[in-house]
Amino acid sequence: MSRFVVGVSGGIGSGKTTVTDLFARLGVDIIDADVIARDVVAPGTVGLSQIVAKLGKEILDEKGQLNRSLLRQRVFAEPELKAWLNQLLHPLIRQQMQQQTQAATSPYCILSVPLLVENSLAKSVDRVLIVDVSEATQLQRTVQRDNSNVEQISAIMRAQASREQRLAIADDVIQNEGGPKDLVDKVAELHQLYGKLAAQTHSVI
Ligand code: ADP
Repeated sequence: MSRFVVGVSGGIGSGKTTVTDLFARLGVDIIDADVIARDVVAPGTVGLSQIVAKLGKEILDEKGQLNRSLLRQRVFAEPELKAWLNQLLHPLIRQQMQQQTQAATSPYCILSVPLLVENSLAKSVDRVLIVDVSEATQLQRTVQRDNSNVEQISAIMRAQASREQRLAIADDVIQNEGGPKDLVDKVAELHQLYGKLAAQTHSVI
């Protein structure tokens, strides 16, 4: 079990996945809140059956999976539905995050949470690592990655916490304006640090 949990966050396109992939290569177990958020509404889950009970079968696609874009439209049109969904899904997501961090076997593990600030989860982890880039870089890399347009990505960025809000809760920051080589060195340095901190945590218990 990993007793030391590093929460990794950053805005859309900041480089969270790129960074956590590098930690994974060093043998660190990665728990991804985005993956969990999808898993808790997969076919056959309590989460999905509750959503169908509330919104009807129309919310499913032809494969019986949650129609996410339709759900987004409904949530946008009905704000109280968002509150209801959060109440349903947040406990399920938290429970899964806890289970998976407890099941992790590397000396420390990483919990990747895009909305760490927005969901006030900083206190649930032992250390917060923020991947930080300028808004201009964020926009440019995300538009390129998602083959999307500037307006769409700008709207997502506006709905997320600000760069300043994220940096305010950071214990460590990876500046990701440079090239991939800079990232490798920085990740190696933090890996050493987290290994030491995890070992200290173990000796106290
Ligand atoms: P996030 O998971 O935070 O949304 P990603 O890790 O997917 O962000 O990175 C966004 C995009 O930017 C990806 O296409 C990724 O390959 C690219 N990218 C990440 N870091 C760098 C970097 N240092 N230099 C150039 N491109 C990068």
